[in-house]
Amino acid sequence: MSKRDYYEVLGVSKNASDDELKKAYRRLAMKHHPDRNPEDKDAENKFKEASEAYEVLADAQKRAAYDQFGHAGVSGAAGGGGFGGGGFGGAGFSDIFGDVFSDIFGAAAGGAGGGRQRVFRGADLRYNLKLDLEQAVFGDTVKIRIPSWSSCERCDGSGAEPGSKPQSCPTCHGAGQVRMQQGFFTVQQTCPHCSGRGEIISNPCTECRGQGRVQKQKTLSVKVPPGVDTGDRIRLAGEGEAGEQGGPAGDLYVQIQVKPHEIFMRDGDDLRCNVPIDMVTASLGGELEVPTLEGKVALKIPSETQTGKTFRLRGKGVKSVRGGAQGDLLCTVEVETPVKLTKRQKELMEELGETLRDGGSKHSPQSSSWLDKAKKFFEEHLG
Ligand SMILES: [Zn+2]
Ligand SMILES: [Zn+2]
Repeated sequence: MSKRDYYEVLGVSKNASDDELKKAYRRLAMKHHPDRNPEDKDAENKFKEASEAYEVLADAQKRAAYDQFGHAGVSGAAGGGGFGGGGFGGAGFSDIFGDVFSDIFGAAAGGAGGGRQRVFRGADLRYNLKLDLEQAVFGDTVKIRIPSWSSCERCDGSGAEPGSKPQSCPTCHGAGQVRMQQGFFTVQQTCPHCSGRGEIISNPCTECRGQGRVQKQKTLSVKVPPGVDTGDRIRLAGEGEAGEQGGPAGDLYVQIQVKPHEIFMRDGDDLRCNVPIDMVTASLGGELEVPTLEGKVALKIPSETQTGKTFRLRGKGVKSVRGGAQGDLLCTVEVETPVKLTKRQKELMEELGETLRDGGSKHSPQSSSWLDKAKKFFEEHLG
């Protein structure tokens, strides 16, 4: 569901050279290529994942953006569109195949890129979804409303007023490209008249003013899998902006952000919490009830427990969306100094204090050894 780190996908370090990247990708691509693993969905996914990672990391500019911003920095480029559809948004994909695959799969690789298409794919959208810790841990279905361009119903996305049709562009005669003479050279350029579409709309749709798409609010149900964490992304294919004039829609990336919890702090698959205990329990031991996300459990406090001591409750943490064992709950105790003492309590404290001091260093070994060190320091540096 959520994306793995591209370097991790390729199994290379963050400062891998282009050559290392290519070698790593080549190895994975040969292993997982659909031609070698027919009907194997897992291999196909791994293949796509590796291709996407390589597409980004092989491009210096995209790699820099990825290094700085993570997946969000390259979301437009790395849609993971699949084969033959030109879903990778044009340039990179077929280049990769031409480059890396020509010597591996020979001529067969030619079909994989699907050729360069005139794709007016809609933009990818990003939605920041804030979740409670419980929702992130146990999963949930969340309804979100997003502003989005969707295909115009009046003209069925064509941009032309119903009853009329887009006309072939008179400048480029439908080619989308024009040849320009520059000195001795002829250069091919995108047709300035139709912006490369090859057709013009002489009678634009009144609803969308020829754009073929209109802005609307839409409500989506997002299935949040159990175990997600801040930074994870859920991709809803085709739920991004509608393409222009019948082009494919972009994807919607739901970016997860887990809200701070009153009691628990997430630490990977572990949960952490602070548990205040009174000094009597800390000293004599006892049993506490501590909350977990699945209800209360008993925590045994041994006698002579110091503040800052952490107890591990196995399997009371989070089961990651990436699989693996369930994490633990780590309870760190904080011994609380009693406040607002009555006269009687103060007397008892005084009395207790006296007997403790009478016992010398054995009742408070930490303070005693600290005092020794402090004394030595004074003698050496200030005496
Ligand atoms: Zn329209
Ligand atoms: Zn034109």
